Amino acid sequence: MPVLLDHRSAAQNARPTLVGLTRAELAVRLGEIGVEPARQAMRADQLWRWIYHHGARDFSAMTNVAKELRGALADAFVLDRPTVSARQVSTDGTRKWLIRLADGAEVETVFIPDVARSGALCVSSQVGCTLTCTFCHTGTQRLVRNLTAAEIVAQVMIARDDLGEWPTSNDDRLLTNIVFMGMGEPLYNLDNVVAAIDIIADGDGISISRRRITVSTAGVAPKIPELGARTGAMLAISLHATSDELRDQLVPLNKKYDLESLFAAIRAYPSLGNAKRVTFEYVMLKGVNDAQADAKALVRLLKNIPAKINLIPFNPWPGAPYECSDWDVIEAFAAHLNRAGYASPIRTPRGRDILAACGQLKSETIKARASARVDA
Ligand code: SAH
Repeated sequence: MPVLLDHRSAAQNARPTLVGLTRAELAVRLGEIGVEPARQAMRADQLWRWIYHHGARDFSAMTNVAKELRGALADAFVLDRPTVSARQVSTDGTRKWLIRLADGAEVETVFIPDVARSGALCVSSQVGCTLTCTFCHTGTQRLVRNLTAAEIVAQVMIARDDLGEWPTSNDDRLLTNIVFMGMGEPLYNLDNVVAAIDIIADGDGISISRRRITVSTAGVAPKIPELGARTGAMLAISLHATSDELRDQLVPLNKKYDLESLFAAIRAYPSLGNAKRVTFEYVMLKGVNDAQADAKALVRLLKNIPAKINLIPFNPWPGAPYECSDWDVIEAFAAHLNRAGYASPIRTPRGRDILAACGQLKSETIKARASARVDA
């Protein structure tokens, strides 16, 4: 009996999933099972709506698709998502999923609820990260690879499954925004990020508008205008320092693209100022970048750029060479920015009890597992 079951599940796994594919890729898949070229685009549109609007898990649900074709689809393909290998819900409503991809690599996705039935899904763009920002834990991970567009989209599918928010037309959704602030540097995987955003923003499917999608970068300057031109997404910059000397230390990528080239790229971001603001992320590190002089320098640096500044209390991790600034220091820093006319919310730490905070993704999970093994 177990042998039979194993056999069957192995055969099932061999069928590729259609979840996460672009319209063009769906059309190719349809061609593979004999749908004639003239009908592929129309059939791909039908599949698209079932997958991304209804969140269908089963071809038999596709009532407007001929029964024969449904059978052929089910013989050849599945509508599976990657496996959720762990799921945690914080006391503050933050949800975190550890997602196992087909090759066994894992990424994390975090949903952060906001006030008034809205919330942001923080998606990963890479397994691990090649940047070695000294305050970030993800950079300590060994394995790094780009996620495919399908693997990025799958994170949104899994969150919407879990939140019970299919079909998309349900306008009372919790998942309203997407932020590329999980693991990885999105601008080192731009082609797949672009393809994923095309799927996520498509009005016949997941339908999260480009204005509600934010891509955060450590500052890959030459790709920044291209990101805007190709996605129309909102831009976030992980700034953290106002001098090249300090930024070289915190974000080593600064040695390659210094503040001058970074700001030239930001100013070239398409439709900037057209009601579009850049978000600057600034992690508060005690005695490192949190002086009033730093706040002043920040205001000078952002002059004439429509900007919002997110002050992020540093999330410590074991062995981290920094501490979080004291609360009154963060407030004084924020007050200076406010007086200069900038919205500068202090990001309250969310999901700390489930280690869902910025820069803590994945590597903490590996550690937790390792210690669980030691305990066992
Ligand atoms: N590579 C991209 C996106 C991933 S990091 C980027 O650098 O923007 C998402 C945000 O979390 C960045 O602003 C990053 O600087 C911040 N971050 C990383 N580690 C952190 C930590 N330990 N505490 C607070 N914020 C952190």
